[in-house]
Amino acid sequence: MKTVFVVGAGPAGLFAAQKIGQAGHEVIVFNRDIKPGGLAEYGIYPTKDKMKIGLRKQFAKVLSLPNVHYLGHVPVGNGTAISIAELQQFSPTAMVFSVGAQGAKQLGLPGSDSRGVYSAKDFVYFYNSLPPFATQDFSVGKRVAIVGMGNVAVDIARWLLIDDPLHTAEEVIIVARRGPFEAKFDNKEFKEIEMFLDRDAFQDELKRIESHVKAVGQDLATLPESTFPVLAKPATTKTSSRLLFRFLSSPQSIHPDVSGRISRLTVTENILVDRNGDVAAKATDKTADLEVDTMIFAIGDVADPALGLPYSNSAYVTSSDPNDPKKACYEVFDPQGGKILEGTYVVGWARKASEGLVGIARHDGEQGAAQVLKYLEGAQETNAASAAEIIRSLHKKNLQLVLKPDLEYLAKAEEKEAQQRGLAWFKFCEDEVMLNAIEKAKSAVA
Ligand SMILES: Cc1cc2nc3c(=O)[nH]c(=O)nc-3n(C[C@H](O)[C@H](O)[C@H](O)COP(=O)(O)OP(=O)(O)OC[C@H]3O[C@@H](n4cnc5c(N)ncnc54)[C@H](O)[C@@H]3O)c2cc1C
Repeated sequence: MKTVFVVGAGPAGLFAAQKIGQAGHEVIVFNRDIKPGGLAEYGIYPTKDKMKIGLRKQFAKVLSLPNVHYLGHVPVGNGTAISIAELQQFSPTAMVFSVGAQGAKQLGLPGSDSRGVYSAKDFVYFYNSLPPFATQDFSVGKRVAIVGMGNVAVDIARWLLIDDPLHTAEEVIIVARRGPFEAKFDNKEFKEIEMFLDRDAFQDELKRIESHVKAVGQDLATLPESTFPVLAKPATTKTSSRLLFRFLSSPQSIHPDVSGRISRLTVTENILVDRNGDVAAKATDKTADLEVDTMIFAIGDVADPALGLPYSNSAYVTSSDPNDPKKACYEVFDPQGGKILEGTYVVGWARKASEGLVGIARHDGEQGAAQVLKYLEGAQETNAASAAEIIRSLHKKNLQLVLKPDLEYLAKAEEKEAQQRGLAWFKFCEDEVMLNAIEKAKSAVA
């Protein structure tokens, strides 16, 4: 039996922990958030209850393994509670990093520090009640630009148009650098908001870009069979809020008003070009202005360099297979030392940022875990600290750890709160409140 640390308890980390735990090894999971689940808990759309409840059950099953230990509320990395070097002092035989993609892609636009400009990840964390985002200012105005045309952009539009309790957004504009055929969202997700599409404005927008679309051999008449099936359906009655699209446009600069909040977004107008069969956007020297008071970037995320693993091109560096450069490699590689970091692995969105749904993250975690198990077969047993020793050591650093039994107390406290408020579910949105609720529930049974 050897000891493996898993850092990050999202789907990738938990399913990796399960596989390693089931092989009989001791697994110690460190997680930044109090609750496990990562984006399954704090990213998946809040009203997808069935999916969330199903995943929570699967995660609880992983954590019910007696040799899988959970240490929540422990951010790992440079400048946080515990660095990777400090973790190594506990002598695990292997470490798996499954911290997701916690960095935001930076476009470096002038004015991007204006109020009302957010990254999608932070905004999604906010409406899914993840501390500390849940209590920060993510105020929304009347006209919101969402940059990006994938499922995350659609989720955010859905929140703004349907579920935001304040219902401030009157217009949501999806800004995309390419055209309507390059939309990346699933029709199933778009159906949720299709009734808000302003059909007249959409037809005007298609007319505006028609010549560019034709230039790459695309035919707008086929759009209903392709990325916009809504166009084949009769229009429904007009809604009070509208969904608009602005194609062939890349953000160029953000202009704040006197209060410091975004009031205008300048976009570069693009044309479409065929690059070896792929439709790409090419900037022109024309620009246009969109009057918006809120802007959300939904263009994917990147790995966070502050974790402290070797980092290059916005990602943690892994080994590669010279014979098959596309092959997924899980071992971390140190380009400075020119060698693999033995026994150190990355899985899930930490390995490939913003790549796929939970099923893909699970598969990646399990594939990575299979590599870890192979490594453990030949690795020397280390004198690893036990979970109890690590907990004692972290308590000495004044960390308020959340352990497996605490998660049950927390779940019960949230259930009780939901009942009292007459809600289907309730989530505490501050760490302090969660920690107090755990303590209160503990002392009630003591
Ligand atoms: C807005 C949005 C909506 C989505 N909707 C769906 C959907 O409807 N259906 C679906 O199947 N998939 C959906 N996905 C995709 C799904 O959430 C991901 O595939 C999956 O969560 C990725 O898993 P992961 O474990 O790699 O990373 P994450 O889920 O991001 O988990 C990372 C974990 O690491 C922890 N962590 C981070 N940094 C540190 C640190 N420094 N130290 C310690 N711990 C750390 C975090 O607390 C977290 O628990 C959605 C994603 C987004 C962004």
